[in-house]
Amino acid sequence: MITRIITSVWIFLLGSLACLAQDRYQISADLYYSEIQDSVYLITHHFPTYGSNSLFVLLSGKQGVLIDTPHETTGTRSLLKWIKFSFGDLQLTAINTGWHQDNLGGNEYLLSLKIPVYGPGLTASLITDHGNELKDLVLEQTSSLDDKRYYQSYKELNFLPPDHTFPIDEGLLLEKGGETFEVYFPGESHTIDNTVVYLHNNRVLFGGCMILSIRHQRPGFIDHANMIEWPVSVNKVIQKFPSSETVIPGHGPHGNARLLDHTVKILETYNADSSK
Ligand SMILES: [Zn+2]
Repeated sequence: MITRIITSVWIFLLGSLACLAQDRYQISADLYYSEIQDSVYLITHHFPTYGSNSLFVLLSGKQGVLIDTPHETTGTRSLLKWIKFSFGDLQLTAINTGWHQDNLGGNEYLLSLKIPVYGPGLTASLITDHGNELKDLVLEQTSSLDDKRYYQSYKELNFLPPDHTFPIDEGLLLEKGGETFEVYFPGESHTIDNTVVYLHNNRVLFGGCMILSIRHQRPGFIDHANMIEWPVSVNKVIQKFPSSETVIPGHGPHGNARLLDHTVKILETYNADSSK
């Protein structure tokens, strides 16, 4: 278990190093952004080392949508400070694509600011039922690090569920500032509740933890995964959004639609090797 976590940290670290080659700008100690398309910002939070991706979309009418959050409160506070400094006061909406800390660790801070957070009912119940186990896991991962601020921040954090829930099988269509965000659940994958979000006008697919970056040759943390269904689910995403031009994985650099095929291949190879 520990070996697997350390391995995945290294894989994530390699993935994020590749990211440095792109036009990235630092927001705070652990937080970076790059504008991957007009008004579409890839946000990467390294906490502690591996980078996890969120997406911030600036919209007309002084609105903004945040898909997934930094891992915890300090990163999320820095992100919102940067948004306010760069774009002024916006009406913000957030979407969670899964129940892990790299999807919704910022909810406590977002909800304290009365920002509506959308997510499946299943994500909410996973956090309600297993949020403490998740917290124990991240505390275990960070307790041995020299820099105590990681452990300390998770210690103070409460994992809170999204406050605007919908049935996961129905998904969600959110129209904001000239863009349509479609939340889609293709079936179980890296977790039993991971969804993807498609931006119809921008043709951007936020794949989150379901999608692996080109730097990944193995799936990362899979303790909560359904390894059999995962590639089947990614194939459903390929069918559902054939016009995707930009694809954002949960960790590592973004790419084009080939990332989806790459993910299926990695998972099928992994499953074939595991059954030998
Ligand atoms: Zn992840």
